[in-house]
Amino acid sequence: MSTSANVTPSHPHFSNGQSCTDRVNRFLQNIESKKHLNAFLSVFTNEALDRARLIDEKIKQGTAGKLAGLVVGIKDVLAYENHPLQASSKILNGFISKFTATAVQRLLNDDAIIIGRQNCDEFAMGSSNENSAFGAVLNDIDNTRVPGGSSGGSAVAVMAEMCDVSLGSDTGGSVRQPAAFCGLYGLKPTYSRISRHGLVAYGSSFDCIGIFSKSLKTMATVLEVISGPDEFDSTVSRQAVPHFEDSLQQTSKKFKIAYLKDALHSEAVQPEIKAALQLKIDQLKSAGHTVEGIDFALSEYVLPTYYILATAEASSNLSRYDGVRYGQRSPNTTDLQSMYKKTRAEGFGKEVQRRILLGTFVLSASYYDAYYTKAQKVRRLIREQTKKILTEYNFILSPTTPTTAFKIGEHTNNPVEMYLADLFSVHANVAGVPAISVPCGKDKQGLPIGLQITANDFDEAGLFQFSNVIQNLA
Ligand code: GLN
Repeated sequence: MSTSANVTPSHPHFSNGQSCTDRVNRFLQNIESKKHLNAFLSVFTNEALDRARLIDEKIKQGTAGKLAGLVVGIKDVLAYENHPLQASSKILNGFISKFTATAVQRLLNDDAIIIGRQNCDEFAMGSSNENSAFGAVLNDIDNTRVPGGSSGGSAVAVMAEMCDVSLGSDTGGSVRQPAAFCGLYGLKPTYSRISRHGLVAYGSSFDCIGIFSKSLKTMATVLEVISGPDEFDSTVSRQAVPHFEDSLQQTSKKFKIAYLKDALHSEAVQPEIKAALQLKIDQLKSAGHTVEGIDFALSEYVLPTYYILATAEASSNLSRYDGVRYGQRSPNTTDLQSMYKKTRAEGFGKEVQRRILLGTFVLSASYYDAYYTKAQKVRRLIREQTKKILTEYNFILSPTTPTTAFKIGEHTNNPVEMYLADLFSVHANVAGVPAISVPCGKDKQGLPIGLQITANDFDEAGLFQFSNVIQNLA
């Protein structure tokens, strides 16, 4: 056993003067005492402790990596060799990863400690974490409320001090929306910034690995470590990866910011969220920044475009779960056809089936042009318009979500109502640009409010810089 007393941390930021072993033990205790939140599907107790001891030793020797002492949880859509991976679905019962996702491997290479695998909506489809085969995740502030989704377990784990940081995935808001509901920073980087190798595919042209953290500095360091080219994913950008932490230095720079006028007037947005946005606008103006209201002409098309294209891609991506190649196979079958059908009918939950059906419909020969092709065209227009705004302005400011965390069961019978939770977040995925949710106060019930900052392609440094500005406004 290593002791905390004589460890000289090379990164006081992560270890706060404590040994990694002590920190892991503390997180493990929190995981145990808050088991009812259902945030973790597997906890890698012994392994995390072994690694902590090893890294404590490396810290003493002065050979530890950049992330030494950082304790990370991973959403159950990220592969970690010889560990279970199920995307919170029955269809992957018993599946064990054969390799490690690039992002996870890079964390390990820099001496982070992976503490466990986190609950989420099945195949990352959902906005409340109620669609998991392992049951709902509860919000730590109010256990009758959802933590948001689909990376709900990952958000709650950081919120409830079960790990420092979580890696989630954000296809249409699944990192930013739960970050807003749980009072955390949640980042969706530019599409293609981080390798998707080892990330279970949902909508491949939208999927991004994202980061949850209570600290911008930690988030910046993690982003730098996991970003950049990867021989296993040819779609990763070759854009230089900056030293993101530098962007957290104080700046006197004055920015030009657009906000969505609609968000301040829409009936769909909770009054306290409008007030939080208005307050930031006023404070930014008094601090000398230029802030202007804009109309995004295509805003009513953003959500439908997302739900047409994401479901189309999902129906194709999820065709691989056929009972032959992965995980579960139905035992009650007579021939190949019935094996496929029964495995998929028994293995996939209701929401995933709904998405596959929707996606198959929009891709079917008679409707392909009317839905899929049309949505692709609209997506192009949305991206062009968004880029245009982001050449005139440094950032777009909006709420992350129309409401704060809602009650468990509140929207489960109305999928369209549930999809509206993504009103503001899907835009960045449709356009491919980076966005972050920043905690900005609480509503009357004490539930966290998140504001979203969207930047131009590859300007995550700008997001960090401006998040810092927003947080320091008074
Ligand atoms: N809530 C959205 C959906 O259900 C986003 C999901 C995600 O980002 N993974 O598709």
